[in-house]
Amino acid sequence: MKQLFYTLSLVLVLGTLSAQTDTKVLFIGIDGVRSDGLDQAYTPNMDTLMTEGTFTFSSWHLRTTVSGPSWSAMLTGVWEEKHGVTNNNYTNPNWTEYPYFVTRAKEFRPDIKAVQITSWDPMSSQVYNDGWNQKVVLGEDDDCVAAGVSLLQNDPDLDVLFVHIDDVDATGHANGFNPTYPTYINAIEYADVQVGQLMTALKSRPNFNNESWIVMLTTDHGGIGNGHGGVTREEREIWWIGWSNLGALPKQELVVDLGSLNPLDYIFPNPNDFNDAPLLVDIAVTAIDHLLPNVNPDTVSRWDLDGKSWLNKTTGVNNITVNVTGGSVFPNPTNGTFTLSMQNVKHDVSYRLFDLDSRAITSGSVPFATDKVDVQLDLRKEAAGVYLLEVTHNGISMVNRIVKN
Ligand SMILES: [Zn+2]
Repeated sequence: MKQLFYTLSLVLVLGTLSAQTDTKVLFIGIDGVRSDGLDQAYTPNMDTLMTEGTFTFSSWHLRTTVSGPSWSAMLTGVWEEKHGVTNNNYTNPNWTEYPYFVTRAKEFRPDIKAVQITSWDPMSSQVYNDGWNQKVVLGEDDDCVAAGVSLLQNDPDLDVLFVHIDDVDATGHANGFNPTYPTYINAIEYADVQVGQLMTALKSRPNFNNESWIVMLTTDHGGIGNGHGGVTREEREIWWIGWSNLGALPKQELVVDLGSLNPLDYIFPNPNDFNDAPLLVDIAVTAIDHLLPNVNPDTVSRWDLDGKSWLNKTTGVNNITVNVTGGSVFPNPTNGTFTLSMQNVKHDVSYRLFDLDSRAITSGSVPFATDKVDVQLDLRKEAAGVYLLEVTHNGISMVNRIVKN
């Protein structure tokens, strides 16, 4: 009797595993594509993916708009407070506690075959515990795309492929990140041709119709002038597209109504305020959710992920309203006095007003409250210029930039 029980268990386990082996992820990352640039460029391949899948032109970057921290957020599913990468040298990363999504998926599916192809070396040389079976570094985007095409066509065992396309960012740095510049638009349009090549290769896989693929496409940040790394809309408002061949990602556009909460009012907005909105950190979590159909990434608490999965999530009204739990500041710019206004405060809040030399002007705290709290602040005795108001709520600090006229 005991022997029979073990046999049955084994069959059940094998059944579960075989049901999982068909789920696969193609992640195409195009560096430095502004939302308005993608909107204006002629991109028939990406347009098709949008029409057939879930997409948004309002995915917000809430942290440092530099490639290293941004790709790290996308590939781990957590913001830089956790993954630790705040620059392109990848100093002090915490890959041990917050590894790439492939490492997470391999906890349950150790046999996953995952490959990264990039021409940007730091993503290969500075990252460990990433779970890739193979890290390919090539000189040019065309080489990366050709290698990806070859793998997709020829490797039946491939489960996860990440292809990084770098030239849009390089064009932005050289000639300007600006949708009115033909150089920038041409670079986006060429990236779309490369997306088309990868999609054609994907669909030509001999067993494609029996494999459950999701394709995630996104960028790491936008750009303004000849650079990025700041806090403007041009740098922070990005986009992503999620497409599936078997319906895992429903057809919809995610339009975000931010209400009174504008991420542009903050240098570092509180990510908890944007839990319902599409974010950079959602890419990894959606990928894990797809690779592990029987594991809900939200319930694996030791993973401590910040993102959420968009798999099989239909918003119904194509509209997401973000809950406001943080604060807004008005008027800003101010002639002297201004108000820090908060709603639905679910934890004690502390605030600190200081100048750019870190000289303290005032500070205080607000106890837990359920509805609206207004704090009046005063810069009348201070010189005209820029001040910083740090608000800490639920362990996370937002820094507001206040301009005194
Ligand atoms: Zn970048």
